[in-house]
Amino acid sequence: MSSAPFNFSAGPAMLPAEVMVQAQEEFRNWNHSGISVMEISHRDRAFMDMAAAAEQDLRDLMSIPDNYRVLFMHGGGRGQFSAVPQNIAGPDATVDYLHCGIWSDFAIREAQKYVAQVNVVGATVDTPQGRAISAPETWQRSSAPAYFHYCPNETVDGIALHDIPDVGDVPLVADMSSNILSEPLDVSRFGVIYAGAQKNIGPSGFAIAIVRDDLLGRAQGNTSTIMDYTVQAKDGSMYNTPNTFAWYLSGLVFQWLKRQGGVEAIGRMNHAKANKLYEYIDQSDFYSNPVHPNYRSIMNVPFLLADNRLDGEFLQQAAAAGLVGLKGHRFVGGMRASIYNAMPMAGVDALLDFMRDFEKAKG
Ligand SMILES: *Cc1c(COP(=O)(O)O)cnc(C)c1O
Repeated sequence: MSSAPFNFSAGPAMLPAEVMVQAQEEFRNWNHSGISVMEISHRDRAFMDMAAAAEQDLRDLMSIPDNYRVLFMHGGGRGQFSAVPQNIAGPDATVDYLHCGIWSDFAIREAQKYVAQVNVVGATVDTPQGRAISAPETWQRSSAPAYFHYCPNETVDGIALHDIPDVGDVPLVADMSSNILSEPLDVSRFGVIYAGAQKNIGPSGFAIAIVRDDLLGRAQGNTSTIMDYTVQAKDGSMYNTPNTFAWYLSGLVFQWLKRQGGVEAIGRMNHAKANKLYEYIDQSDFYSNPVHPNYRSIMNVPFLLADNRLDGEFLQQAAAAGLVGLKGHRFVGGMRASIYNAMPMAGVDALLDFMRDFEKAKG
């Protein structure tokens, strides 16, 4: 391949080219030390300064209020599926979950291990205009749940809940693994926001948890210490050795995002990228998207071919044209274009050109 392909992988996903070049340049000589950022102590002053700057950049980007702690955790997105119930609900608690898709389902099943009652308040519904999420008025919320959990961007299904649920005083918890930093967000509406890093932030295995102060100090007694929000908050996310390389690389991505104009600018770009794809898919009889227009993800755009016997050929020819990672999740089939922050408009345009040509040849 003469030039780099456009990588539409759902995760681990592409990182900004500029960041990768910088990381490569610094790989064996970080901060003029003559050694790699991976080979120094996390207690080293230079590392601590870098770690603090990364946190501050994230705080700036998301306008995180002072009464929230930013934790750099282990175990990716799914690590938080158990961390949340263990940290902010007692074993006798009832917790509310909205079932928006596959990741919600995994989160629910994990929570069932740690609390007495997981109440599923609502789920997706199939409508004549496509798959949607049941309306808030219909949700069967419990009277005093320890928290309300939802996934605003279901990565596999391409379903998004664009309005933040109004759950009153109940702490709202969101799995933002695939949409964190994708557009402006009012963090003050949430009790906990968490995200595995490998979609919009950095390397996999790393996770960010943004936790409101008043939810600390509630962990169940048998919570694993490295997953304990209170311990990690007290120790600056360095109770044990953090993933130093992931922290560093995430910090470079935060700096890059600031240079792009922050979440306002990237959000406009993300909506423009997604709209272009959906508009083309909607006017075509050859491609379709199964999601109701009001519930479509701006990060993950699934699409089906009218004749799924052409799927293999589509993927093969796309790859030959430098468009990789387009295969849909194994649970749902079809195609999926993941267009996270790092995907430039040029990648979307190249995909659209290919889709038009393929339709012309086969449609
Ligand atoms: C990818 C993803 C996860 C799982 O992340 P891991 O780091 O693999 O555990 C969880 N939730 C959502 C919404 C995701 O997109």
